[in-house]
Amino acid sequence: MKVLAINRLACVNVEALADALIDNELSVETNLLVLPHLSRCHHCKVLIEEKTRIKRILHASVIRIVAPPSLARDLRVLIRSSTAC
Ligand SMILES: [Zn+2]
Repeated sequence: MKVLAINRLACVNVEALADALIDNELSVETNLLVLPHLSRCHHCKVLIEEKTRIKRILHASVIRIVAPPSLARDLRVLIRSSTAC
């Protein structure tokens, strides 16, 4: 969990924390610094919205991929063969 100990954030700080914010990985304290910045900074607000939109698209595309049932079996066999001495 990332904690940032400054009172007022600059855009560069918010940009650095954007992915952690979107992934809900920031501490409550850092969220309390970032969220007010987003309410008054159009640039950062748009950045977060765009990154969130891209994350949703990527997540939706990954969900559609279904591994073949044989993949788990083949991986187990491969792992067992690589760990056998
Ligand atoms: Zn900003």
